[in-house]
Amino acid sequence: MNTLANDLSTLSQSSRAFLGAPHQHFINGQFVEGSTDEAVAVVDPTSGETVGHVPAGDARDIDRAVKAARRAFESGPWRKMRGADRERLLLRLADLLEAQAPEFSEIESVNSGRILSATRAIDVDLSVSYLRYMAGWATKITGQTIEPSIPYAPGANFFGMTLREPVGVVGAITPWNVPLGQAIWKIAPALATGCTLVLKPAEQTPLTALRFAWLIAEAGIPDGVINIVTGYGQTAGAALVAHPELDKISFTGSTRVGRLIGEAAARDMKHFTLELGGKSPMVVLEDADLEVTIPGAAMGIFANHGQSCIAGSRLFVHEAVYDKVVAGIARIAQDIKLGPALSLDTQMGPLVSATQQKRVLGYIQSGREEGAEIVVGGTTLEGPGCYVRPTVFANVKPDMRIVQEEIFGPVLAVARFKDVNDVLRRANDTRYGLGASVWTRDLNKAHWFIRNFRAGTVWVNTHGVLDLAVPFGGIKQSGTGHELGEEAIRHHTQLKSAILALSGPV
Ligand code: ADP
Repeated sequence: MNTLANDLSTLSQSSRAFLGAPHQHFINGQFVEGSTDEAVAVVDPTSGETVGHVPAGDARDIDRAVKAARRAFESGPWRKMRGADRERLLLRLADLLEAQAPEFSEIESVNSGRILSATRAIDVDLSVSYLRYMAGWATKITGQTIEPSIPYAPGANFFGMTLREPVGVVGAITPWNVPLGQAIWKIAPALATGCTLVLKPAEQTPLTALRFAWLIAEAGIPDGVINIVTGYGQTAGAALVAHPELDKISFTGSTRVGRLIGEAAARDMKHFTLELGGKSPMVVLEDADLEVTIPGAAMGIFANHGQSCIAGSRLFVHEAVYDKVVAGIARIAQDIKLGPALSLDTQMGPLVSATQQKRVLGYIQSGREEGAEIVVGGTTLEGPGCYVRPTVFANVKPDMRIVQEEIFGPVLAVARFKDVNDVLRRANDTRYGLGASVWTRDLNKAHWFIRNFRAGTVWVNTHGVLDLAVPFGGIKQSGTGHELGEEAIRHHTQLKSAILALSGPV
């Protein structure tokens, strides 16, 4: 028996029933066959075994879904629904998801290889919270009133105002690293603002989105408001981006694909938000509390197996504490227990796919060839599972590929520094700008780094923590626009201005 593979017989009956059932697109409130028989195999990365198939959607499936979303936006009951009623639907969705949390977590762990506690906390519980958070916004979308002073009409009586209206039909494309979580980041603000949406989940991890479609139907969300089409990026994803009846694209994924999407969206004058790659620095100053810093920085890179756009993949440590910090993080990396996602004593599962494993191992090889010193890890485990041991490279040089490029795996590149101005320059010397952290007890230095890091989010004495009310987005090649918080509402609405001529005293 392969002890590194998930034991699927430990799954709940409902999870097993879902995995065994045929999967279909969810369009206009119905589960429907794809336009062709072509399917995408869904693989359990702990074993390499296929656990199901989903339709490989094409342009015709996307067209059906976008037309349904367009109809639901233009003429369905959705348009006329009050904010309070949309709020109630979001709360109902949250309750349904919460009630079935263990099943969603199991399905996500089988499909993505991430351990149950992680899929439960990051995919399921955070999604429940986000649906509730966004439910609150449904009744709080406001414009402004303006008292005009129109210069060429002295004496006339005007009144000015702005309305925030839903942008319309949203096309959402999500990655495989936090599958349900990313889907809900797109679905919740669309529902709160009165938009409609077509979601194309990552081809590697489509299952929880399809399972969520059951809840959409059960909660009573009107037909066509949320649609889900599975399939590959170059076919289904590209067809969604190109669809002329779409008003906005919300994309999370690689910088390479994000650039294509941004170009296409700009050409069509569609709204777009892009949440892309990262190569986030973590800077440990001489005065940092190492009791907090060592485990915190280890989590900063190894959380979610390093498969995170905000992973702290470049660590800069002051020379006075360098040896201690590197040894401490290496010890944590060494002790992380790798194993199947469904086993309760596992601390880290495999990477999401054989492709990703190969990619990460390729980067590790390049680090070795370019002369970085490997402190721990760098290898895989025997067997078909897509495992990569947590890896720490020390004494890295700025031009190495492991320092320049996003690896999206459990690989940390550590360098030492002496001077804060020098480390700031090196930390900012990247084409990405998603996250950055500084570890220090000195409030003034912390503040200086907050001001001077070129990144969308800065953390102090922690790394990678996100809150649903705090906007999240990148600068430089890490993207444009924000998700979460009030910014998500702003990005799903557009401003309309109105000027009323009033006839005089009543
Ligand atoms: P990764 O390399 O991590 O898989 P991608 O950016 O390729 O990241 O994938 C993220 C999402 O973008 C997935 O849902 C994928 O199917 C989709 N995608 C990939 N290529 C395209 C494309 N050309 N147009 C639209 N979507 C795409």
